[in-house]
Amino acid sequence: MLGEKCGLFGARCFNDKCVFDLLYWGLIAQNHRGHESYGFLTYAKSFRRHVNVGLVPQISGRRYSRWRNFLQGDVGIAHVRYGTSGERGFSKLDYAQPLIASQDDEKIGFAFNGNIVNAYELRNRLIGKLEKNKSFCDSLIFSKYLVNNISSNGLMDAIEDCMKNIEGAFSVLGLRNNGDLFAFRDPLGIRPLSMGESKDGMIKALSSETVGLNINGLEFTGDVKPGEAVVITKDDVKRERLVKSERTAFCAFEYAYFARPDSFLNGKYVYSVREEFGRNLGKRFKDIVEKADVILSMPETAEDAAYGLHEETGLKWERILRRHRYVTRRAFILEPDERVSTVDRKINIMDGNLNGKRVIIVDDSIVRGDTTRTVVSKIRKAGAEKIYVFVTFPRITHPCFYGIDMATFDELIGFRFNEEEIAKQIGADGVFYQPLEDYIRATGMSANELCTACITGEYPTETAQKMAEAARISAKKDQRRIYERPEFFDG
Ligand code: SF4
Repeated sequence: MLGEKCGLFGARCFNDKCVFDLLYWGLIAQNHRGHESYGFLTYAKSFRRHVNVGLVPQISGRRYSRWRNFLQGDVGIAHVRYGTSGERGFSKLDYAQPLIASQDDEKIGFAFNGNIVNAYELRNRLIGKLEKNKSFCDSLIFSKYLVNNISSNGLMDAIEDCMKNIEGAFSVLGLRNNGDLFAFRDPLGIRPLSMGESKDGMIKALSSETVGLNINGLEFTGDVKPGEAVVITKDDVKRERLVKSERTAFCAFEYAYFARPDSFLNGKYVYSVREEFGRNLGKRFKDIVEKADVILSMPETAEDAAYGLHEETGLKWERILRRHRYVTRRAFILEPDERVSTVDRKINIMDGNLNGKRVIIVDDSIVRGDTTRTVVSKIRKAGAEKIYVFVTFPRITHPCFYGIDMATFDELIGFRFNEEEIAKQIGADGVFYQPLEDYIRATGMSANELCTACITGEYPTETAQKMAEAARISAKKDQRRIYERPEFFDG
């Protein structure tokens, strides 16, 4: 189970309505994108900010009214976070977003989803301008870089500078101290960012996933384009494509795991893409399907793919594995021992009759292997004779430097072992990955529009490519995230 940073929601009400209601529900709908911390920032003559650690709480009645009264204003931004940058000893609250950064008279609220590859280099440029006791964290560096630039060059030029000089994945929401809301996306469009509005056009909103719009009764009007900036003032909306790149690189992994199945990504609902993944697996591995008695699925991200596999093959699909809904700790962010016990608590297996059965278990991805291993062992204990693992996301052999927390080679089971060895490692009788070409076709995108670097080792940005080569050489002896190693940038 993986962690990703992060989820965003921002809105402006042109009818003087309180923006907090929209922000709150926009975050609730996207809490799957970050469990570490959450935060709100609104503007009503001055900034009002509330951040805390953990999930966005379910609040109602007087508590909700208190929050609403404090977070006044008709414009605001909100964020849920799962960190892939920042020293682990620091409090999660130190990194909670939206952050506030200032330079001279300029002050901005800042929230972003993604990861900066050259954050160390930017930090070196900013040394002296950063607060001394602040640790290394790409969002602190990014916000400072941006606000300095806005202060000297104005908003649009500052955003363009970020797009040209910051390498990595970034979908950004910002709020200025004059109440202007702004948003932009890196030129490759690695992380999602959607726009929407109310039927009467009096509310304009931005959300990482369309589910944040749906929950607020807003209509999806399109995506912020890669390299595009959007500014929503109290008078109008301005959109400008500042940097146009020859290719795009939307994260392929969003389809398999991160995005909610009811989100609409690049023209398709995620659940329909996942069903197609299942159908593809059924066509590719007919011989294995013929040997099996039943399909099981990893709850809940592999369920749509399992349905597709069932539909394609006619093989019975039993939903024997279920999630304990309120066990919310994400296994991926924990220490290895803790991770296994969390998965153990999270997934329940019902006493379906698996005695002597040959089962196919559909999983969305295998990163470190702990989750799959734990589930395979539960199925084996329940009496299964053969266990074949069908995986929708192709084998992950390379780290991600764009905001998914798998930033070293050595942690990846797919880097250390081939398919047969992986099967042994996780206690299965076979592991079968969906081929990359099938995966890409199912998304409706082309290879030139997707990032698939963790599968192919071909990174869409230059520093990341160099980092991957350097990290591979030092894989065994250095477990730090390479984009946080000063020596990489200092030579
Ligand atoms: S390397 Fe993999 S996880 Fe990271 S952005 Fe690219 S496709 Fe997504």
